Amino acid sequence: MRMWPWNARVTEIACVALGGNLGDRLAFLAAARTALTLLPGVRLIAASRVEETAPLGSSRQAPYLNQMVALATSLSPDALLVRLQAIEQRLGRVRAIHWGSRTIDLDIVRFGSRRMSNPWLTVPHPGLADRDFWQRELAELQPLIAAAS
Ligand code: ATP
Ligand code: MG
Ligand code: MG
Repeated sequence: MRMWPWNARVTEIACVALGGNLGDRLAFLAAARTALTLLPGVRLIAASRVEETAPLGSSRQAPYLNQMVALATSLSPDALLVRLQAIEQRLGRVRAIHWGSRTIDLDIVRFGSRRMSNPWLTVPHPGLADRDFWQRELAELQPLIAAAS
């Protein structure tokens, strides 16, 4: 009989959206990807193309660069969110106004097939239905995720 190791943790695929509109936008995306690869319990398995989009909310902001990555992770959704927020802070994210300009935003779009909603984390991300670019990026990641698993 094959025993399940006592400390084995299930690995799930989380899709994380990266986006920013301040400073060297490509450099911030790259720095965020690097920071993600350095997280314990996280393996970056695929990245979408980078896409430029108009800002949500105020059109007086600079345009955004967006990208989505697929992570294989043994972290819980909450633990991943905490680590994403730490990376945002390290990369100079300042939360002044909702949907305000930022160096980097890291959102959990999907976490496996989980559905959850609490005051600090909703998965799938509620913005997914309205954000065409996320849907395109997710579609681009699907075959890459399938090939990696
Ligand atoms: P949006 O979430 O609409 O893209 P935003 O990314 O600019 O807007 P933030 O200021 O980055 O919003 O985050 C606001 C709060 O959203 C965070 O404090 C976080 O707890 C919460 N949140 C809820 N669900 C998620 C999720 N799936 N991914 C990231 N943050 C989330
Ligand atoms: Mg966001
Ligand atoms: Mg966010």
